[in-house]
Amino acid sequence: TYTLGPKISNWDQERKIWLDQNPQFPNFLNGKSRILLVTGSPPNPCDNPIGDHYLLKSIKNKIDYCRLHEIEIVYNMAHLEKELAGYWAKLPLIRRLMLSHPEVEWIWWMDSDALFTDMKSWIAVNTGSFLFRNCQWSLDLLDAWAPMGPKGQIRNEAGKILTANLKGRPAFEADDDQSALIYLMISQKDQWMNKVFLENSYYLHGYWAGLVDRYEEMIEKYHPGLGDERWPFVTHFVGCKPCGSYGDYPVERCLSSMERAFNFADNQVLKLYGFRHRGLLSPKIKRIRNEMAMPLEFVDQFDIRRPVHESN
Ligand code: UDP
Ligand code: MN
Repeated sequence: TYTLGPKISNWDQERKIWLDQNPQFPNFLNGKSRILLVTGSPPNPCDNPIGDHYLLKSIKNKIDYCRLHEIEIVYNMAHLEKELAGYWAKLPLIRRLMLSHPEVEWIWWMDSDALFTDMKSWIAVNTGSFLFRNCQWSLDLLDAWAPMGPKGQIRNEAGKILTANLKGRPAFEADDDQSALIYLMISQKDQWMNKVFLENSYYLHGYWAGLVDRYEEMIEKYHPGLGDERWPFVTHFVGCKPCGSYGDYPVERCLSSMERAFNFADNQVLKLYGFRHRGLLSPKIKRIRNEMAMPLEFVDQFDIRRPVHESN
């Protein structure tokens, strides 16, 4: 069967030795574990050129979030393994990054079609947004998961097993990394589940269709920092393919919804600078307060990294 590379079985020890020998690359900074956010898009331009503009908005959104929370970021456009193209490309990439950045404690994968919509929410962990600890256990999971990816016989076989095991899944090849992961967790529960944490106290990957039309209501009633259905941490545009040629929803609906999510998030960033978007569908901004001679008072009041104020 397909493998991701030579089997590595003593990563925890090797990594620890490396960390001890390289104190200039600490795995904790200011008491917080070092996190690398990873996202990416296909190597070539989008079929639909407007898709490239939304990929740009999507990476700007992630850069903003990562700056606010001192997270490092990687943007990948390469297919590291030709057998694992498309959305399976994240598996060899995550493994490569773990092994090449032993100083990183957590790898956080986030799809290009997922946006941070609560810039204040913070993690205290769907395959659209998930975290992997940099350790032997994660390498083992990737080793078990990856063989279900390559096109051909293995995929067809995996597809049949998945269809037999997962309710409501049509009989296709195992083109879906998410169903494959779920299958692995169900079929080998004892081996994996005791070290998997399924986050459901906040929206690590909120499904867009139920959220984007409620942003105005959320602004009226709630404030950033909640992360749940009142103010979703992440809004994920599952089924939208603004970059590619087909998706499950009309591309116009996807694009206007993404525009709303982006501006909803961007308002939280712009607030510190004294601006906001004219509306959630408008790239234009307007001033929300007058400049004053004591700028540091605004910093105390509006910096999103500080505790929630009544003014929110
Ligand atoms: N992706 C990538 N390179 C590719 C194709 C996809 O990096 O060649 C990434 C991209 O970030 C995308 C993710 O894989 O968001 C998963 O695909 P998609 O969001 O289209 O799947 P869905 O979430 O709709 O199942
Ligand atoms: Mn996605």
